[in-house]
Amino acid sequence: MNMKIIVETSARHIHLTAEHIEVLFGKGSALTVRNELSQPGQFASLERVDLVGPKGTIKNVLILGPARKSTQVEISLTDARKLGIKPPVRESGDIKGSAGIKLAGPAGEVIIDEGVIVAKRHAHLTPEVAKEWNIANNEIVLLKIDGERALIFDEVVVRVSDKFAPAVHLDTDEANAAGCIGEVYGTIIKK
Ligand SMILES: [Zn+2]
Repeated sequence: MNMKIIVETSARHIHLTAEHIEVLFGKGSALTVRNELSQPGQFASLERVDLVGPKGTIKNVLILGPARKSTQVEISLTDARKLGIKPPVRESGDIKGSAGIKLAGPAGEVIIDEGVIVAKRHAHLTPEVAKEWNIANNEIVLLKIDGERALIFDEVVVRVSDKFAPAVHLDTDEANAAGCIGEVYGTIIKK
């Protein structure tokens, strides 16, 4: 079986609560859709905020919608070094005890004590594809990427949901290490 899957690079981004959107952009503010993402219902917004760390600032960071229950910042280890913080590698949503940061928007600032993570590399699968490939939710698989910087990634966690579209998400450090430019497909290998 050929378990070929699109590999998307997930650049640094922020998920915000509705409350934090109002603090950063003003009362009554909501996110404006710029474009839809591959995962159904998720979108990149037009809004931007700055991440302010003890050692540096990263300006104009993308915000993904819709609003969430917890504010979460997903950055690369390169970004973490620039900001001067030490976020853990975690799955999305698992933010307890993670790093804090200051977010600065046009209308105000928010300081979070936790919520900054380096996203664990992962594959989104639909239940149909997971069944066909005999892969379970939370299974750890390998991902092989071909090309002149060919690389096999270990520790790719698979998440299965009927709300997903099949795709692997790597961060910019990982994608650059494997020379991912343009539309890239990888192959999942069971361990
Ligand atoms: Zn993802």
